Amino acid sequence: MDDDATDNHLRTTTGPHAERQAEHHAGDRARHHAGDRAGDHAVVLGAGMAGLLAARVLAMRFSRVTLIERDELPLGEAVFRPGIPQSRHVHVLWSRGAELIELMLPGVTGKLVAAGAGLFDSPRDFLWLSPADWFGPVSGSRVLLASRELLDTTVRAEVLRNPRVRIRAGAAATGLVAGPDGRTVSGVELRGGERLDARLVVDATGRSSKAPAWLAALGHPAPAVTRYDSHLGYSSRYFEIPDDPGRRWQGMYVQGRPELPRGGVLVPLDGDRWLVTLVGNGEHAPSVRDEEFLPFARSLRSPALYDAIRSAVPLSSPTAFRNTANEWRHYERLERWPAGFLVLGDAACRVNPVYGHGMTAAALAAEALAKEIRTLNPAEIAAASRRIQRRTLATAAVPWQIATSEDMRYPVTEGPAPDRATRILQRYMSRVMAGANTDQAIASRFFGVLSLTRPPGTLLDPVTMVRVLSRRHLPASPHTTAYPAHHGPPVRRGPSAERGARRSA
Ligand SMILES: Cc1cc2nc3c(=O)[nH]c(=O)nc-3n(C[C@H](O)[C@H](O)[C@H](O)COP(=O)(O)OP(=O)(O)OC[C@H]3O[C@@H](n4cnc5c(N)ncnc54)[C@H](O)[C@@H]3O)c2cc1C
Repeated sequence: MDDDATDNHLRTTTGPHAERQAEHHAGDRARHHAGDRAGDHAVVLGAGMAGLLAARVLAMRFSRVTLIERDELPLGEAVFRPGIPQSRHVHVLWSRGAELIELMLPGVTGKLVAAGAGLFDSPRDFLWLSPADWFGPVSGSRVLLASRELLDTTVRAEVLRNPRVRIRAGAAATGLVAGPDGRTVSGVELRGGERLDARLVVDATGRSSKAPAWLAALGHPAPAVTRYDSHLGYSSRYFEIPDDPGRRWQGMYVQGRPELPRGGVLVPLDGDRWLVTLVGNGEHAPSVRDEEFLPFARSLRSPALYDAIRSAVPLSSPTAFRNTANEWRHYERLERWPAGFLVLGDAACRVNPVYGHGMTAAALAAEALAKEIRTLNPAEIAAASRRIQRRTLATAAVPWQIATSEDMRYPVTEGPAPDRATRILQRYMSRVMAGANTDQAIASRFFGVLSLTRPPGTLLDPVTMVRVLSRRHLPASPHTTAYPAHHGPPVRRGPSAERGARRSA
C-alpha cells in the first residue's frame, strides 16, 4: 500500500462528506441487520491509543462501537490512571503518528497544542548526543511532545464525539464468548459474568493481553512468540523548568552506547514542566531512589543533562518501568483464526519504548484496519478477520526491525542471534547515524525512517549510499565533546536554581 493511497483513503473517509457517506452506508447495513443484536456492534477492549484509534476506524462501518476499559476514567481530566503506568515516562509522538491521528481526528493536534503540547523539529530543537556524536543544527522530523495523560484524554474526547462510539469505564474483559460452532467469536465476557454480543471483538488491552489464553479456551493454538529483551530500565521524574534566558534548546537526548549503556531524555510538557527519563541496560538500569537520580544523570556520556537538572526543583520522586522487552506474538502465523476477533497494538506486538514508536505503530495498524474494512459490511469484516489480523500486524514490521536490530548491539540483549543481513545493516546504520549528525540530506532520510514516514529502503538508495559510505569517520569509538559546538554549558543560573539547591540540601 503506498502512502498516497493510504492518505487519500483517510482524507476521503474522515472529511465531513465522507463521514455522512459512511454513516449513510453503515445506516443501511444497520437496517439490514435489524433484529440481529450483534450484527452491527463492535467491541474494543482497552481504551489506550490502539483501542481508541481502532474504535474511531470501526465507527465508519459499525453503527455501534463499545469501548470496554478496566480503569475508571475521570472525565476531561488529564490525570494518571493505573492501566497506563507508562504515562509517567517520556512519550514522543513521531510525525507519522501525529499525522495519522490528525487525519482520523481532524483538529486534534490544535487541541493538544492549545492544552500545552509542543511541536518541535527533532533533532534541530534539541541537544541530542547520538551513539556517534552530537547532532548539529540539522532539521529532521516533527515530533509532538505532551504528557501521555494529555494525549490520551484529548484523543479519547475526540473519539467519543462520534455518537456511534460509547465507552464503559471500570469494566474489565475476562474472556471471549464463542459462537455456535464453538470456535468463532460472538462476544465478550466481562468481570462479574456479564456478556456482550458483538460481531467483532478487538483486543487492545496492551502488554497484559490475555488473548493467547482466551484463544486456547476456544480451541485455538497459542501463537509463537519472538522476544528480544535488552533489559532496559527506566526511571523518570518531573521538574520545574528553571529560568535560563540563555537556553537555546527545547529538550535533550543523551543516548548510551553498548560500552556505556546509560542514557537520558529531557522533554518539556504541558503544565510547564520537564519530564526527565533516565535509562540503562541490565546492571546499568537506573534506580528510583531520589538521591541516585542526579548521580546517574552525571554518569552519562555528556554532563549536559546533569547540568540542566542539577539545580532544578523536582516535582516528584522517580518512578520506574522495567518490562521493556520487544515481543511479537505471531498471530499472523496461525493457520486457524476465529472469525470476529482481532488483536491490535501492544497486545499483538510491542517494541522497546526507547525508540518512541508504540503510539505511531498503533496509528499505522489503525490505518491498515481502515483500509481493510473500507468496502466491507460488519459481517464481511468479521469473516475477514484472519486477513485483517495479518495486514494490521504487518505494519509493526518496521518499528520491530528498528528496535530489535538496535537492541542487538547491546551484549546484554537476549533473543535470537542477529543474522548476517542484520549485522551488515547495523554497520551501515552506524555510518548513517554518523552522517546524519551533520549532513542535512542524510539527516532528512534518517529521520524520515525513524519517524516511520519513509520506508527503510530510503536509506539504501544509491545517492544516499554514496553519501553515507564516503564519509571518512566511523563512530567505532567516538571522542565526543561534552557539549555540541553550537551549544555550550549553561553560564548562569536563575533564582529557581537556588530554590532547588536549598530544597534538596
Ligand atoms: C515506558 C514506556 C515508554 C513509552 N514511550 C513511548 C514513546 O515515547 N512513544 C510512543 O509512541 N510510544 C511509547 N510507548 C508505547 C506506548 O505507550 C504504547 O505502545 C501505545 O500506547 C499503544 O498501547 P496500547 O493501546 O496497545 O496499550 P496500552 O496503552 O497499554 O492500553 C491498554 C488499555 O487496556 C486497558 N485494559 C487492560 N486490560 C484490560 C481488560 N482486561 N479489560 C478492559 N481494559 C483493559 C488498560 O487499562 C489500558 O487502558 C512507551 C511505552 C512504555 C512502556
